[in-house]
Amino acid sequence: MPRYEYRCRTCDDTFEVSRPMAESSAPADCPAGHADTVKLLSAVAVGGTAAAAAPAPSGGCCGGGGCG
Ligand SMILES: [Zn+2]
Repeated sequence: MPRYEYRCRTCDDTFEVSRPMAESSAPADCPAGHADTVKLLSAVAVGGTAAAAAPAPSGGCCGGGGCG
């Protein structure tokens, strides 16, 4: 079961709640009983591999006009 992190805006405490994903957006009471809580976004690291850019071929044998 995924765990979600919430922060209580009343006592400024953060807490985690294990709940089904379907209830992830449902309000969660803080351990102290406050209902004014906000759900924190867990650190979603979108790791992307850098696009491998192939270097454009430069030059060749005909740079100085000595061939061909
Ligand atoms: Zn609280």
